[in-house]
Amino acid sequence: MSLEDIKSESLEELQEQFRQEGQPAYKALQVYQWLHRGVSSFDEMTNISKALRQYLAKRYYISVANIEKKLVSDYDNTIKYLFRFRDGEYVESVLMQYHHGYSICISTQVGCKMGCTFCATGKSGYSRDLTPSEMLAQVQAAQLDNHIRISNIVLMGMGEPLDNYDHVIKFLRLVSSKEGMNIGMRHISLSTCGLVDQIYRLAEEGLQLTLSVSLHAPNDEIRSRTMPVNKKWPMEQLLKACRYYAKKTGRRISFEYAMIDGVNDSDACARELAKRLSGMLCHVNLIPVNPVRGTKYQKSGRNRLERFCSILERAGLTATIRRTLGADINASCGQLRRNHTQKGGAIVENIR
Ligand code: SAH
Ligand code: SF4
Repeated sequence: MSLEDIKSESLEELQEQFRQEGQPAYKALQVYQWLHRGVSSFDEMTNISKALRQYLAKRYYISVANIEKKLVSDYDNTIKYLFRFRDGEYVESVLMQYHHGYSICISTQVGCKMGCTFCATGKSGYSRDLTPSEMLAQVQAAQLDNHIRISNIVLMGMGEPLDNYDHVIKFLRLVSSKEGMNIGMRHISLSTCGLVDQIYRLAEEGLQLTLSVSLHAPNDEIRSRTMPVNKKWPMEQLLKACRYYAKKTGRRISFEYAMIDGVNDSDACARELAKRLSGMLCHVNLIPVNPVRGTKYQKSGRNRLERFCSILERAGLTATIRRTLGADINASCGQLRRNHTQKGGAIVENIR
């Protein structure tokens, strides 16, 4: 019989299973608390009897993220991890330090099906979805490795979170549970390339998280060239869903816009974008695109970014140019795994 994934269980599910198996149900809470502190074996659960620990080890496994590689930025202490799971698959996470605390960017899938042309993850294809416990394990591994408490989570690593909808929602409920890590939804952001049907579904969940939408273009012509998802869900439908989401949840949408030299960064693009977003409860984040091996894209210059930003602001939108963290360690996700798993690929070697 194959082992079950205990850390993906909610407290209620665990209590129910204990009850059905004739195990003391009140012990489920203690086990749950140990799991959410990040233990890697049942033997570390010191207030649990040996007999129960043995029973648990026969029925379940504990999902952990093993540190395969770790890169520390010399500029700003940003740390990029390459984690390995029990089946040998890898994902990346990035730990960032801000004045208000630690924030982690985690992955939701091994690879991605969406194929955005500027994205290292998109270029490497899709392998599998992550389980809720594997998402938790990334947060826990980074906490334990640095002896810190993480206060913010962004689902902006490898993968498309809304393409792994049920596992992501379960993860959000687990990580915010008060018996678990207790990280409030207001401290969590989820980034999507724009799966319109799932945005409507998410709006109904009643979660207070921040929704980020990767827009990267002011019209379908440009967006379809870089983001194949736009052919299925064109911008008009996407922006309609965003307006609905903002209205339904009362939460401001954050639009991500990677500035690519000569592709989407002209004054005309800024004006068109401003027109399309006018009147929406939103914020635009401008990010210089991170050049990825095998693509021809270059980042827009500083002046272009500033001019684009000021056109948006003059049109009444709020916009910021995002500070790039960990520039020396390729902190945008997908590149490290790609280098690690491709034969002959160079591995970045500025590890401390
Ligand atoms: N799949 C989701 C979340 C993961 S990607 C999404 O697409 O939103 C996280 C963010 O990184 C997205 O905004 C994505 O567009 C952006 N991104 C991907 N490759 C990039 C690159 N080379 N430079 C800058 N941003 C990039
Ligand atoms: Fe997938 Fe997001 Fe990369 Fe697009 S940008 S390929 S959706 S991870």
